[in-house]
Amino acid sequence: GKQAYVRSKPHLNIGTMGHVDHGKTTLTAAITKVLSERGGAKYVPFARIDRAPEEAARGITINIAHVEYETAGRHYAHVDMPGHADYVKNMITGAAQLDGAILVVSAQDGIMPQTREHVLLARRVGVEHVVVALNKADGADPELTDLVELELRELLAEHGYQDVAMVRVSGLRALEGDPEWVASIEALLQAVDDNIPVPERYLDAPFLMPVENVLTVTGRGTVVTGAIERGTIRVGETVEVVGHGEGFTAVVTGVETFGKTMERGEAGDNAALLLRGVRREQVRRGQVLAAPGTASAHRRIAARIYLLTAAEGGRSTAVTTGYRPQFYLRTTDVPGRVDLGDAALALPGETVEATVELGRPVAVETGLTFAVREGGLTVGAGTVTAVLE
Ligand code: GDP
Ligand code: MG
Repeated sequence: GKQAYVRSKPHLNIGTMGHVDHGKTTLTAAITKVLSERGGAKYVPFARIDRAPEEAARGITINIAHVEYETAGRHYAHVDMPGHADYVKNMITGAAQLDGAILVVSAQDGIMPQTREHVLLARRVGVEHVVVALNKADGADPELTDLVELELRELLAEHGYQDVAMVRVSGLRALEGDPEWVASIEALLQAVDDNIPVPERYLDAPFLMPVENVLTVTGRGTVVTGAIERGTIRVGETVEVVGHGEGFTAVVTGVETFGKTMERGEAGDNAALLLRGVRREQVRRGQVLAAPGTASAHRRIAARIYLLTAAEGGRSTAVTTGYRPQFYLRTTDVPGRVDLGDAALALPGETVEATVELGRPVAVETGLTFAVREGGLTVGAGTVTAVLE
């Protein structure tokens, strides 16, 4: 038989955010260095993180660096980004769905404009948990740092973040191996472990997996692959195929990841599900497999859309009602008509509230993020704010 997959620690997605030059990348490198000395990471130097490759996430190019590391009880995937525009795009499109964030604030400089913007964005896109790294504490006056901390508590509370853990750290000194500041990074990681819970949606939410690929395995049947977005799935459970035409249900007769059998597939896993009695033509990329009755396909949505500027690769001219770009939602893309309501037009760089009529029914829900493309360009990043029909 096939080898079984062993799951060791819960996995979380986190990332740094905060004003440029407050030390996000230095801190990211320091975390991997400190943990590498305990066998929990491979050290990733500053220059490797800072020269991150561009990633075409949901059709939008974002400069993003991924590192991974383990604390005693968890496995983390951690993202760091160089520019403010990269944060805005990443957070709106959900290129990295953050379970929590490390807000990096220079203790020497205090709250700066991008500190405020990232806190606001984090709240808007549903990042529930934040831990503050008061960085550059090596050169900061402790009493002034107390004031920065007070102001931060006020800012965070305004956006609904209460009792946020704040740790004074020095990414730079920790990278240099100074024991006092190495300990500060350990304290920060402890605060992350203690204050960013394993998200409930991961396991307790109803199962959902966007269909990436459909294959026929001779002698076994139809296999559907994709990344499990939420919930869990076991052999013998029923899933509903949603999107495109009429929905239908099927029983799962096999669950695998990377060729190994799994007792249960979980959110975050790349899974291959064997479906009983289903012909290959019945399932298509762009549909979703969901716990029966928990997902539905729709054609009309309300959405908040950020229009990329020309400098970000977007349009150089305004859009008006009647605009018909292509919408990229999970693994599908579909044409759609934009209605701006009372706004006559929307300019690149603006965030607009719009109604969108999709060309065919797609499995959508409030909070789902998507990209807007036109003629090979990514022109917008959106979030579904309501499902209308
Ligand atoms: P980012 O733009 O937020 O990623 O910031 P960087 O990590 O690139 O750091 C910006 C500058 O601040 C660099 O010159 C760093 O060496 C410096 N820096 C970062 N962390 C610290 C720190 O803990 N203490 C001091 N004194 N300087 C730091
Ligand atoms: Mg950086």
